[in-house]
Amino acid sequence: SHRIMLGPLVAAIDQGTSSTRFLVFNSKTAELLSHHQVEIKQSFPKEGWVEEDPKEILQSVYECMERTCEKLTQLNIDISNIKAIGVTNQRETTLVWDKETGEPLYNAIVWLDLRTQSTVERLINKTPGRNKNHLKHKTGLPISTYFSAVKLRWLMDNVAEVHEAVVSHRAMFGTVDSWLIWCLTGGKSGGVHCTDVTNASRTMLFNIHTMDWDPELCKYFGIPMEILPRVRSSSEIYGLMVTKSLHSLKSGALSGIPISGCLGDQSAALVGQMCFQDGQAKNTYGTGCFLLRNTGAKPVMSDHGLLTTVAYKLGRDKPACYALEGSVAIAGAVVRWLQDNLGIIGSSEELEKLAASVGTSYGCYFVPAFSGLYAPYWEPSARGIICGLTQFTNKNHVAFAALEAVCFQTREILDAMNQDSGIPLTQLQVDGGMTSNRLLMQLQADILCIPVVKPSMPETTALGAAMAAGAAEGVSVWSLSPEDLSEVTSEKFEPQINPEESEFRYARWKKAVQKSMNWET
Ligand code: ADP
Repeated sequence: SHRIMLGPLVAAIDQGTSSTRFLVFNSKTAELLSHHQVEIKQSFPKEGWVEEDPKEILQSVYECMERTCEKLTQLNIDISNIKAIGVTNQRETTLVWDKETGEPLYNAIVWLDLRTQSTVERLINKTPGRNKNHLKHKTGLPISTYFSAVKLRWLMDNVAEVHEAVVSHRAMFGTVDSWLIWCLTGGKSGGVHCTDVTNASRTMLFNIHTMDWDPELCKYFGIPMEILPRVRSSSEIYGLMVTKSLHSLKSGALSGIPISGCLGDQSAALVGQMCFQDGQAKNTYGTGCFLLRNTGAKPVMSDHGLLTTVAYKLGRDKPACYALEGSVAIAGAVVRWLQDNLGIIGSSEELEKLAASVGTSYGCYFVPAFSGLYAPYWEPSARGIICGLTQFTNKNHVAFAALEAVCFQTREILDAMNQDSGIPLTQLQVDGGMTSNRLLMQLQADILCIPVVKPSMPETTALGAAMAAGAAEGVSVWSLSPEDLSEVTSEKFEPQINPEESEFRYARWKKAVQKSMNWET
């Protein structure tokens, strides 16, 4: 059998909250050639706590690499054509490990985790005027349970192993990107301890103007700077894959390939959707939902509860680009909750059938504030509610209300985005696991009253990381100009209900949100 000649290939590790993927793209056409996906277990050891096992995360990466390489071989594609590997990851999720043993010192504390709620309240109460935006001028972020610094503080205060490792200069902190790159480049025998500017900008220890760790912020949270990874751009060679750590068969062929792209998942999706111009935006529907709008070379501070974040910096000598971001904690996570906690669906695909069978929530509203509310409210004490129930309500209506909740939350952040920028978006580019739900896409267009556009290649997050890796200096097999990429095909969902109907439902939703924030009082 003959080998197919394709030109240079670029791979991406996409380590998300709910699963890990390894994907291989043709750098000439952006075509996805092969991939593999493995689910990640999430544990909920106490109310509000969300953890994942760092070793399982690493193992899932190895397994995805191995399976993908097997698939490539079956397709007669030579693995040695892979010229670079990019990493994209769930952001903010916090890990500490021992650099001498290579062992994680605790589970990864997942971004959604609420254990730091009391710490956050204490910190906010200490600020002048009880202002959650006290550090926003440097970080672009409100003080919240969401970001890494408070999680890291919790680990240092509550896990003896972490405390000891910090004191004895053996601790390394990282988000998932740092953990993976360190392990894949050799781990305890010479692994590279780094992160990129986009991931760093979600820790609350990073100054988005100076583009470096900020000594004052580190002091504020009591974090010793020596445990932090080195901050690099999103597109440069960080190190080479070391296969000693790859116990494996086919993927041993990945040995020596540069790891040369690194972007937090939402930044990677922005790149993968080619939103390189000031004003371009995308919304990703995964575990949570994240709308990012490119604001070009300047960080724009929001007056409407959005975050200011580093969008990307595609090369050491390239300028940083910033974005305004609306983050919603619970989107796909509500689907998993309906499946795992209530058992009213057997799979996420089933949700669409249930909801479509009624085509309405029948006046039922579901605010899934399981992790408090993120943008635009930033209210950690909010809790989920389902309201408007009657004798008539059944599980199909609740399923519909859950999908609608994702759309209403997006409407809230889109409204905030439009108010902050003064220029309303005329259509919404979307991606992420939930966008395979066509009912959700139609509902979203109906509730926003603008078209929703979904690319036919759904893996835009991985594509963005692959592009960054392929374009890095010293690799240069991928140009980042959109003209060079083959025409992106997409599907468009047009609004189908009248705007008054849409406004009526949205107004009801907002009432339900108020109840979710005040349900105790
Ligand atoms: P992440 O990157 O956060 O892990 P993904 O983009 O992989 O998320 O999307 C997975 C999420 O999408 C899961 O929470 C899952 O429940 C949800 N999901 C996947 N398919 C569907 C569907 N057809 N309908 C509704 N939700 C879905």
